[in-house]
Amino acid sequence: MYARELHPERQKEAMDGLLCAGCSGPAARDERGMLWVLPLLDDAEDTVWEGVRTVILPMCKKCSAKATQSCPRLRDGHVELRVQEAEKIGVRGTLYPRPGEQGESDPDALVLYGSPDEPFVIARQIVRELRDVTVVAFVAAVP
Ligand SMILES: [Zn+2]
Repeated sequence: MYARELHPERQKEAMDGLLCAGCSGPAARDERGMLWVLPLLDDAEDTVWEGVRTVILPMCKKCSAKATQSCPRLRDGHVELRVQEAEKIGVRGTLYPRPGEQGESDPDALVLYGSPDEPFVIARQIVRELRDVTVVAFVAAVP
C-alpha cells in the first residue's frame, strides 16, 4: 500500500509537508537527513540515487519497518536512503496540448517548475529531487 499511487490531494499535501507515506506523521530525520524507502528500479545495480526524482513520500521509522515487510513492491527489493535536501522541482500529471495545437494529451508527463509547459499540466503529484543522499541499506529481492 505504501508505494502505490496515492490520491492526488493526499500526495500533494503530504509531499508538500514531507509527511510519512504510511501514517501522515512527520517523516524520520537524523543527522544524515530524512528517511526515504524506494523500490528498486529494473537496472538497480547501476542506479545512481543521488539526484533521483521521485513522487514517493518519505517515511517515519515505524512505517518503514512495516512497509518493507508488507508492501509487495518494496519486498521485491528496495533501498533505504537518508536525504539532506529534497527540493520540489516539478509535478507529474496530464499535459494537455496548447490551445490551437493538435495532438494527444500526455497522461504521465513530468513538468518542471518554470517550464513553458507548466500552464498546460494538471498536476497529480509533486516531484522532489533527492540530493546529498546516503544509502543506508540496499535490500535485493528475496527469490
Ligand atoms: Zn509513518
